Amino acid sequence: MTKSAILILLGPPGAGKGTQARMLEEKFGLVQLSTGDLLRAAVAAGTEAGKEAQAVMSAGGLVSDEIVLAILKDRMAEPDTQKGVILDGFPRTAGQAEALDDLLAAQGQSIGAAISLDVDDAAMVERVSGRYTCANCGEGYHDSFKQPAVAGVCDKCGSTEFKRRADDNAETVSARLESYHAQTAPLITYYEGKGVLSRVDAMGEIDRVAADLAAIVTQVTD
Ligand code: AMP
Repeated sequence: MTKSAILILLGPPGAGKGTQARMLEEKFGLVQLSTGDLLRAAVAAGTEAGKEAQAVMSAGGLVSDEIVLAILKDRMAEPDTQKGVILDGFPRTAGQAEALDDLLAAQGQSIGAAISLDVDDAAMVERVSGRYTCANCGEGYHDSFKQPAVAGVCDKCGSTEFKRRADDNAETVSARLESYHAQTAPLITYYEGKGVLSRVDAMGEIDRVAADLAAIVTQVTD
């Protein structure tokens, strides 16, 4: 890899952003940066930002740009992000997209690719409602689509502890889909206008989607 890559994964809840970001992280040595994970950590730690974010998150709305940008900037300042980052769940509003452009410009960097994971909305509620992760290593599973090979044991790390997100219930997922269409989907046009947009059909098998993404990332990082 010759230059640091800034990649953005766009897509509604359930599109597979987190799963694919983890795979790209392993394959390309990039760092997954999920604002959802950072916000959940802030909620768990009981920080001021976490307290403010909690109610919005459980209602399926979007946390204020101010809080999200502060959390993102702190994380981007850490040295492991120098190799390049996969932004998973950020930006989600026009204000965040513009702030990201400014932040990168100030560092002499720019966006390598914004990749839209295209999916059917109708399938997303089922995808999100059945999903859970290993509490130890974060590997993702699903009640219908991807159970561990040995029931109750994580394929990756052998842990027997799993967790589900509080906001992965049918009601909140619908609100999250609405937030996506109202505020985040317009960013597809924004990045198209900048000439950095790619689209991937994300309804297929995880490995096929991963191969499509890897082809795009290889082009950007070569
Ligand atoms: P995620 O893990 O990406 O699905 O995010 C979970 C929740 O965190 C979202 O439903 C939002 O409430 C909040 N969140 C995550 N990222 C952002 C963001 N970039 N802007 C605003 N809210 C966010």
